[in-house]
Amino acid sequence: MTIAFIGLGNMGAPMAHNLLKAGQAVVVFDLNNATVQELVKAGATAATSPRDAASKADQAVITMLPAGPHVRAVYENDDGVLAGVAKGVPLVDSSTIDPLTARHVIDTAAAQGNPMADAPVSGGTGGAQAGTLTFMVGAEPALFETLKPILGYMGKNIAHCGGAGTGQVAKLCNNMLLAVQMAGVSEAMALGVKLGMDPKTLAGVINTSTGRCWSSDTYNPWPGVIDGAPASRGYTGGFGTSLMLKDLGLATEAAKQAGQPVMMGGAAHQLYQWFAASGHGGEDFSAIVKLYSQQG
Ligand code: NAD
Repeated sequence: MTIAFIGLGNMGAPMAHNLLKAGQAVVVFDLNNATVQELVKAGATAATSPRDAASKADQAVITMLPAGPHVRAVYENDDGVLAGVAKGVPLVDSSTIDPLTARHVIDTAAAQGNPMADAPVSGGTGGAQAGTLTFMVGAEPALFETLKPILGYMGKNIAHCGGAGTGQVAKLCNNMLLAVQMAGVSEAMALGVKLGMDPKTLAGVINTSTGRCWSSDTYNPWPGVIDGAPASRGYTGGFGTSLMLKDLGLATEAAKQAGQPVMMGGAAHQLYQWFAASGHGGEDFSAIVKLYSQQG
């Protein structure tokens, strides 16, 4: 049984490595030949196009690409997945994209007889390497059961979110909330320090009180509060500001299309837009605290 894996970037390469480590036969494709060759060294077979990769897969085709236009191209172009894949082989897109594009590609695949799931991930590059990703899966129940063991080679939590597109919905809602929480914790920490509190003491009180959240107790944006958090190593590593900005753009666009107000998400989107435009796109997203304090 063979799995095709297309898109071998920061996330896709370690995910494909974990499939190989689990003893799966993997055929790979990426526009970047260097990353393909790394996987070949580890035991994968190289394909010449998404179509070629998909034609060699009988267990599943998995894609991990930057954004919606890349996903449409990889599936729908003449040399794309849908042109090569045998009827019935399940397809999984793990990229983070807008739910409408996800549903469009899923419907196109279903029309030619290939069940398809959207399965974006959280857990970052660390989770991809360790095989501890969370997969948020939008799929019919039978397809979810088929895919669960395969995704389990790359992740620890495989969550069924509902039908097609709901994986992307869960991912966008979670990340919008995360951005709002990070901006809120940054504001509270900066205010407390300005009013004379020690940052570690303030975080300690918040983390045993009602303001506690992941952004305060695990990933606090104030330097020195949490050992090992990006804030304590110059905001390097972690989840980049530009990636958070991308997810906030997807969330606010989806809200616009649905006619649903997202006032806090909209404010967080503008904060991250401003921060990225000021040259901080490469820093971890907790560096947003710098908008509130020079000490952050
Ligand atoms: P990346 O830019 O490192 O990798 C994308 C890969 O896709 C590249 O190797 C690129 O060459 C390849 N690619 C682009 N177009 C292609 C095409 N037409 N055919 C074949 N390959 C093509 O991105 P990443 O960090 O691996 O992220 C992938 C997805 O996962 C994104 O949607 C991102 O939002 C999401 N994500 C990333 C993280 C993270 O921490 N990096 C966390 C969660 C989710």
